[in-house]
This record gives sequence, structure tokens and C-alpha cells, in this order.
Amino acid sequence: MGISVDKNKCTGCGLCALTCPFYAISMVNGKAEIDLEKCTLCNACVEACRKFQAIQIIRETTKTPDIEKYKGVWVFGEQRNGNVQPVVYELLGKARELADKLQVDVSCVLLGSNVKDKAQEIIRRGADVVFVTDNPKLEHFLDESYARILTNLIRKHRPEILLVPATVTGRSVISRVAVQLRVGLTADCTELDIDLKERLFLQTRPAFGGNIMATILSKYHRPQLATVRHKVFPERAADPSRTGKIIEMDFDKSFFISRTRVLNVVEEMASTVNISEANVIVAGGRALGSAENFRILRELADVLGGTIGATRAVVDSGWVPYAHQVGQTGKTVCPNIYFACGISGQIQHLVGMQSSKIIVAVNKDPSAPIFQVANYGIVGDLFEVVPLLTKKFREVLKRA
Ligand SMILES: Cc1cc2nc3c(=O)[nH]c(=O)nc-3n(C[C@H](O)[C@H](O)[C@H](O)COP(=O)(O)OP(=O)(O)OC[C@H]3O[C@@H](n4cnc5c(N)ncnc54)[C@H](O)[C@@H]3O)c2cc1C
Repeated sequence: MGISVDKNKCTGCGLCALTCPFYAISMVNGKAEIDLEKCTLCNACVEACRKFQAIQIIRETTKTPDIEKYKGVWVFGEQRNGNVQPVVYELLGKARELADKLQVDVSCVLLGSNVKDKAQEIIRRGADVVFVTDNPKLEHFLDESYARILTNLIRKHRPEILLVPATVTGRSVISRVAVQLRVGLTADCTELDIDLKERLFLQTRPAFGGNIMATILSKYHRPQLATVRHKVFPERAADPSRTGKIIEMDFDKSFFISRTRVLNVVEEMASTVNISEANVIVAGGRALGSAENFRILRELADVLGGTIGATRAVVDSGWVPYAHQVGQTGKTVCPNIYFACGISGQIQHLVGMQSSKIIVAVNKDPSAPIFQVANYGIVGDLFEVVPLLTKKFREVLKRA
């Protein structure tokens, strides 16, 4: 896909430039000129020029030119308030593995304000190169500016793979980048690998409602873009002996143009849980039967210093807020212990919790699929088993 201006038909009326919501068109020597880095092919200028038909969108799909020149694995270094998000260190670990197979470098793109000093830590966590743009205009995340800068860097340096956190920020920026580059994007990957023979990125994710795991390939376009949720891969530990290159870049003010402005930042309420970070999760399913019955799970969670989780069946019933939902359409978690109480273990739930270090399942049906992923299985009625566990843990922990 692309866009072209027929200079013979263009009258220089400037209507296209006025219509373009992305400020991608300027008039040069009385003719329209389109900046492909800013253009999103939204079609607004084509409509505006309908009378003269000087602007045309070219729709045939082609292979990325010089596809073999795309080399390297990149990670989008998401930060919040200047703090690099832990998911970035998880992605750097996976990127290192992929890059070692491909025998290329790992690079990380760090955009923000007062972030320069974080680049060294990113190198310790596995990057060979960190591209940093440290600018007060990047203090708050604005998807247009972030995407414009990232797209520009990709066009210039041509990485073959880009890993992005599947967070609100990551999803927002990378979908724009994918559109600007006209490449595909595989969202919420749970496994990543390399087919060395074809030099292709194997991006595996749940498909068809989680009933199958699909491996997605992008044979004809570069870079290959994937998002990965927090806690899917382990965080890479820092290696203080690692060294790398920090490349600082500046961009002219056109890169910071945005149609949105941050007026105010409202911090998350303290009561909002982040179960992705919990070390102990006591999760309940439909078997709990009511919001009130979650009290017995909360008691066990309190004794162990954990939090509660829930299946979608529970959240849909309104017994527990969505922030506690684990699974494909909820959070991905990786606690030290995950108690699954009255949870059948459907694939959509398993994809969110199966990488937990220890899984304890309580279910009265011995053939429930949850037992296939559990390290410890207790066949019994959760209303009897869970209070006994709470009592026993309380006694043992009191003694400790
Ligand atoms: C597109 C899509 C996305 C989805 N996303 C998610 C998601 O993110 N997270 C999620 O969880 N689900 C998700 N689901 C729903 C998922 O398919 C299941 O329906 C859901 O996980 C089932 O929840 P459950 O285990 O609580 O209920 P059930 O499947 O009804 O299981 C209840 C279990 O409790 C056991 N039980 C009953 N009474 C007792 C008792 N007294 N003591 C002990 N055990 C007892 C039963 O034997 C049974 O195994 C999604 C579905 C779709 C189609």
C-alpha cells in the first residue's frame, strides 16, 4: 500500500493539506507533497481531491523492499514516570534468546523525559544498544508522537523483530506503528521462537477463543511485530559486567505534534489491585456460588499475604471486580503459589496462570482439566478444604 500525487493533475489548491488530520501534506512549488512518515492512508485527502483525482492510494500488497537487510531484535522500552516497566526486562530476556539464535544484536528504544540514566540498566538486562530520546515533550505518553519516533527509527535502522509489552501503552503505540509501516502485528503472544532455516519469527498465541495455539509467520514483511503480556516470560536478571552502546537522538518539533494533550494524570486508586505482581493468588471459580462466599478465599489469601483471583464466570456474575480476572481476557499471572478453587481449568483460564510456580487445585470432580496443570490436586469440596488449609497455614506460620 502507498499513496501518490499525480503532479500533472494537481492544481495546487491546497485543499488536501487543509484536510489532512496528520499534517502529512505540504505544498512545494505549488504542488502537493505527502510525507510518508506521517501519512496513515486515511483517505481524507483522496476525498478532498475527488474533483481533480490527483491523489491516489496504491493498494497492491508487496514484499518489504530489501527484506534481507532487516537485522536485529528490538524491544520497546516502556517506562512510566521515568521508571522502566518490569515487562521490558522480561522481553529483553526473550529478545536476547532470539537474537543469540539469529546472531544479531538486541536493541531497546527508550522514549521519555528524564530517562537517559535508565539506559545502563537496560544494557545490564541484555541489550547491546539503547536508542534514547530524552525530551520533556515525551513526559506523558502520547501515542502519536511515540509512534512517529518509533516508526522513524525502524525505517532508519531496519530491525527484523520488534517486541512490545502488551500493555495499554504498548498496544496503543505498536498498532499505529504497524499501520504506518504496513506490516502485520501478532498480539498477546505466549511463545516466541525462530525458524533458523527460513529466518522467520515464530509467534504463537491462543486463537479461536483459546481452543488452539496458532503460530503466526510474517514471510514477506519486516519488521515482524509481536506484543507479549507481563509475566509470560521470566524477567532477565541484571549482569553488571555487560557493556553496550547508548545512542541519544533528537527529533524536530514536527515529531511531537499531537492531536491529544494530557490535561491531568489521575493516579490509580490504592484499592485497585495488580494481581500480576502478586506472589500468592487464591483464585475461585463458579463453584463459589456468590460474592459473599469469596470470604473463605480472602481468609486464606490474608494468611498467606496474597490476593484473590477469579475466573471470567465469576467476574461476569459480578461477584468479584474485573481487576481480579485471570486468563485470556483478564490478567496473566505468575505467582509463587496459585490456588485454583472450584475452577474447571478451561484453556482460556489456563493461558493466564499456567506459568505459576506451584499450582494447587481444589475441585470435587477428579477429571477436571485443572488437575492436568496442577502440582498438587485435592479432590474435595472447596467449602471444606479451603477453611482447613487456612487453619493449617495459620498454625504453621504462627509457629515459624
Ligand atoms: C473468548 C473467551 C475468552 C475467555 N476468557 C476467559 C478468561 O480470561 N478467564 C477465564 O477464567 N475464563 C475465560 N473464558 C471462559 C472459560 O471458557 C470458562 O467458561 C471459565 O473459565 C469457566 O470458569 P469456572 O472454572 O469458574 O467455571 P466452570 O467451568 O463452571 O467450573 C466450575 C468447577 O467447579 C467445580 N466445583 C463445583 N462445586 C465445587 C465445590 N463445592 N468444590 C470444589 N469444586 C467444585 C466443578 O467440578 C467445576 O470443575 C473465556 C471464554 C471465551 C470464549
